Amino acid sequence: MKRLPDDVHFDAFPASLLFDWYDEHARLLPWRAFSPALAPAYHVFLSELMLQQTGVTTVIPYFQHFTRTWPDIFALAAADEDAVLAAWAGLGYYARARNMIKAARLVVSEYQGQFPKSPQALEKLPGIGPYTAGAIAAIAFDQPAIVIDGNIERILVRYGGIKKEVQEIKPRLKAIYAHIRPDRRRSDFPQALMDVGAGICLPRRPNCALCPLQNGCRAAEMDDPASLPLRPVKKPKPVRAGNLYILRNRGGAFLLGKRPEKGLLGGMLAFPSFGWDGSECPDWLAALNLAAHSQKLETEIRHVFTHFTADMTIYYARIDEDVPVPEGYRWQACSQKALPTLMAKCYQAFLRQTE
Ligand code: SF4
Repeated sequence: MKRLPDDVHFDAFPASLLFDWYDEHARLLPWRAFSPALAPAYHVFLSELMLQQTGVTTVIPYFQHFTRTWPDIFALAAADEDAVLAAWAGLGYYARARNMIKAARLVVSEYQGQFPKSPQALEKLPGIGPYTAGAIAAIAFDQPAIVIDGNIERILVRYGGIKKEVQEIKPRLKAIYAHIRPDRRRSDFPQALMDVGAGICLPRRPNCALCPLQNGCRAAEMDDPASLPLRPVKKPKPVRAGNLYILRNRGGAFLLGKRPEKGLLGGMLAFPSFGWDGSECPDWLAALNLAAHSQKLETEIRHVFTHFTADMTIYYARIDEDVPVPEGYRWQACSQKALPTLMAKCYQAFLRQTE
């Protein structure tokens, strides 16, 4: 076991009790395998990328759809990027999907379709940071990797009774994890901790009476275990105003275009819009002089991104088919499923008011 920093006190960690609990209570997740079996690396890779910013319940049907459509890394590497992005719609943070395809192609071209086993090699793949690399190495390959997600972080802080903000102690948490990680069932260990975090050691209501880690947990002895980890004072998110235009031609088709590859909603299908992403009104849109013959939706749409909130004002208009269509745009049928969430919300508001 690695030595802990001098001022971190961690009692003997009850890994055996944790495994006993996991054997009885593990969540049945479609990307999981149970000891001694190991889940295919492709499944761990897909699920971990999907789970990076999205909850388990939302991810399950996406994971099932992806594995039905692209059952292995070779199928995903050969997939049409637009089809993958469309299947990703609703999960948000589309850079993840684009990186996923790039990583799949690299695994096929550089590693003959076999994921590398070490966290260091995995981290070189696009979109795979230290956490995801550790998760794939540990869960799919039983490697002695460090795996600390939000659930595990919370458990470590509470178990050790560490009264500091998480940002301040991140490197120490790695040392603690390496210290308590047993040399057996290295795949099950982080998954068992994740399940305790997801079902028992909840952020606001830890249920210590049911917890396999209760003996030895410092927070369980406190009046309010939920007060750990200490929460940083939250700054309000900035609000950006945006205008979005739902334009139809006489045939009823919508003007939709692909957003630039880099930046917010990169590469996704979108209605013309500006402001919310820091852009100015494009010249071609200004030239349509829509102020004169568009209507404004009564409802405004608010959408929360990680670092800001977008307040969208939506305009709609019929347009003469002969207007020059800007590069990247075309008149087409609109399917809500193919739109990223912000655009789908605006489209829904439009349908509610106009149909
Ligand atoms: S005993 Fe309570 S605070 Fe400690 S890890 Fe379990 S649920 Fe969390």
